[in-house]
Amino acid sequence: MGAMVKTAGSLRYDADVIIAGAGPAGAAAATHLARLGASVLLLDRVVFPRDKVCGDFVGPSALIELDALGVSQMDGFAAANIGWRGAIYVGGAELISRPFPAVTSMPPYGRVIPRFVLDKFILDAARNAGARVREGCELIHFTADRDSATVEVANSQGSLTLRCRLLIGADGASSKVARLLRGSAPPRRDRFVASRAYFTNVEGPDEQLDLYFDASCLPGYYWLFPTGKGAANVGLGIAVESLPAHDFTPAAMLRRLIREDKALAARLRNARLRGKIAGWPLVTYNHRLPIMSGRVMLIGDAAGLINPLNGEGIQYALQSASWAAETLAHCLHADNFSAPALAPFAARVESELRYDMALARLIVHLISNRTLAPLWIEVFKILAGRARRNGSFADTLAGIFAGLLPARDVLKLLGGTAGEAAQTLAAALASPRGWAALGSGTSQIGFRFACEAAKDPAGLALWLKNASASMAEFGARAAHSGIAGKKKEMFLQAQKLMQSRFRIP
Ligand SMILES: Cc1cc2nc3c(=O)[nH]c(=O)nc-3n(C[C@H](O)[C@H](O)[C@H](O)COP(=O)(O)OP(=O)(O)OC[C@H]3O[C@@H](n4cnc5c(N)ncnc54)[C@H](O)[C@@H]3O)c2cc1C
Repeated sequence: MGAMVKTAGSLRYDADVIIAGAGPAGAAAATHLARLGASVLLLDRVVFPRDKVCGDFVGPSALIELDALGVSQMDGFAAANIGWRGAIYVGGAELISRPFPAVTSMPPYGRVIPRFVLDKFILDAARNAGARVREGCELIHFTADRDSATVEVANSQGSLTLRCRLLIGADGASSKVARLLRGSAPPRRDRFVASRAYFTNVEGPDEQLDLYFDASCLPGYYWLFPTGKGAANVGLGIAVESLPAHDFTPAAMLRRLIREDKALAARLRNARLRGKIAGWPLVTYNHRLPIMSGRVMLIGDAAGLINPLNGEGIQYALQSASWAAETLAHCLHADNFSAPALAPFAARVESELRYDMALARLIVHLISNRTLAPLWIEVFKILAGRARRNGSFADTLAGIFAGLLPARDVLKLLGGTAGEAAQTLAAALASPRGWAALGSGTSQIGFRFACEAAKDPAGLALWLKNASASMAEFGARAAHSGIAGKKKEMFLQAQKLMQSRFRIP
């Protein structure tokens, strides 16, 4: 595994920092830390290049991080397909199609780079910076004490124990480091499942990324992201709690939607499936779960840094790697890896992400009630209708989906009436008269909602509890971030109304 590199008193360390997982988060952290002069040992249980189930969309913020890592300058990177326009379809009909908006200091495009290729680029950056890389080497267990983190690893030759000043868990959505740190698996309501397939001979422009919504797979969506030369990544992601029993798996849902969704079927009319449809879990951000303790940090998917609204995670994997390195620069200098010394990392994640993630989470939890799916599809249509009439509204919508604008800009889409919308929903849920006031279409949904409630009161109670908790979290974040007083008040009122009507503690 390499010679012992450092000593502190009688203790001998195999590296300053051991990083478990050499995906975008781990390899980026290794690059930053090695550049700072730290001795870094980067482990991955598999051998690269390796596939990772993903939509492969590398958004503008992620491109900026890749630039800082020196990846964009590497041979071959410029050949990766550029996507500079997006289209949104609902129920097989196009709602909007337009170029991504120009946002200051961001490239107005993303790239679609198969992870087989992208992750190898970032790993090469880590090697170039001086990190030692061990492939086919799996973290099995760790313990941490005042002086060190001790890591047990297994490779083809057997197992061994390594010691470091600090362990970074960058081992993805099923992170062992996170599970050991937190003592349990992530809650079910934070989990999504997804499937992805590659197709060749795809119709339509290589520069256009398509998102598809359908009432059968909310909260979630499916996509077609061209990888260039007529090939594309096609996939679907959906909240675990919303998986309908009749479709069984996301792969089965994806196959059905490829057959039945007119817009997607049109692009895949003459296409050929390359390989198999592969599945993967996603765990979305939950501010209640710790992302560090003394001598241990979590970054990327291991920390749950996935936006529940659009499933994007590469950007957060790269950003969290850079924030971790910033904090560690001080820790390495002071030789202090205690929880208080690492706390600025958690504070940075919270200040950068918690508000947007809280809003995204609220939206996802509201949408997760399947009976209300037709209502949300109507909301999409209303938003898209406005986007067709109003260019800046359309730019905001496209910007959020492309990752150019933060999720909080959803509030702009609601025309400053987000709080009223939340109140309307709460009022509608509280009485049949409320539903009727929303119009005849929605009152039918109200009727279905009442039937559903009678059939599955426990399911309804859970949904209300989750939605109310998310509303409380968003209200608190809004207050903390100083969002306009009126909007904040309305959210808090809507939450109180839901809590009182449904006796949610
Ligand atoms: C279907 C799907 C579509 C997605 N689409 C997009 C998208 O289009 N754009 C986007 O930005 N994000 C997308 N995401 C999210 C994105 O894939 C992740 O956020 C990203 O991969 C996070 O990088 P990471 O380095 O944290 O984890 P990973 O990329 O999962 O890397 C973790 C690494 O850890 C290794 N590992 C695991 N356990 C151990 C262990 N015990 N010991 C040693 N090594 C270990 C693994 O082999 C792996 O190489 C999607 C996710 C899914 C599932």
